[in-house]
Amino acid sequence: MTHLFQAFDITKKFAGLVALDQVSFHLDEGEILGLIGPNGAGKSTCFNVITGTLKPTSGRIELREQDITGMPPYLTAHMGLARTFQHTTVFQHLTVRENIEAACWLRSKVGLGCTLLRTSSYRSSEISLKTSVDDILSMIDLRHVQDSRAKGLPYGYLRRLGIGIALGTNPALLLMDEPAAGLNPTESAEFSKLARRLRDFGITIVIVEHDMKVIMGLCDRIVVLNYGKKIAEGSPGVIRRDPQVIESYLGK
Ligand code: ADP
Ligand code: MG
Repeated sequence: MTHLFQAFDITKKFAGLVALDQVSFHLDEGEILGLIGPNGAGKSTCFNVITGTLKPTSGRIELREQDITGMPPYLTAHMGLARTFQHTTVFQHLTVRENIEAACWLRSKVGLGCTLLRTSSYRSSEISLKTSVDDILSMIDLRHVQDSRAKGLPYGYLRRLGIGIALGTNPALLLMDEPAAGLNPTESAEFSKLARRLRDFGITIVIVEHDMKVIMGLCDRIVVLNYGKKIAEGSPGVIRRDPQVIESYLGK
């Protein structure tokens, strides 16, 4: 069986520092993978290299067996990659719905040119756009506040809106950087439900997260980084008992 995604021996050096040291891992379609490790382990760098924000020093990245190594973010987005950020950036003065519409429009394949020209492809995409904006609002469970301005919404809602914005590009693979940070236990549980919903919808997910309750409860498989090296990989049950992981990260 071919993998949806594969990283082969990814190395990223910053001056003298090796942030990622020959890291390899794969993703199968419909999986939720946890990427964990102490601060500075290389998790965000890994996301940046995958989405093309940073070029790896060496190594190879494949999506559906196509080489995407070093492709810029707008192209990896086109290929089906999306990410959410630790600090959600939404348009505060726009409504929830308008934020999602903007995400769909700004990143749509149709592009701004067609919007201005009002071509037939604009008209047909307008129809499908309406469906997908409603689908996204349902998926992130924010339909009931779709006409409220983002400004002033509860923090948990804003985080969900951030995920909705990432869904605007219709991704096959979604990378989430600390999606449960700052959430209360109820909101964290809601986030886990949302992640499962996205997976059931067909989106493959990678989550960087420090909340071990979320990671252990949600992930099918976990990859552990420490000082840029992959030190372990396996099911939550295996990772929880791995002596090296306990010593470097889980502690106690
Ligand atoms: P994590 O997300 O696991 O906390 P990072 O990927 O942010 O770790 O960082 C890994 C290492 O690379 C850290 O030592 C960090 O200081 C360094 N690093 C990250 N980004 C840069 C950069 N743009 N320039 C120089 N060093 C960086
Ligand atoms: Mg980080």
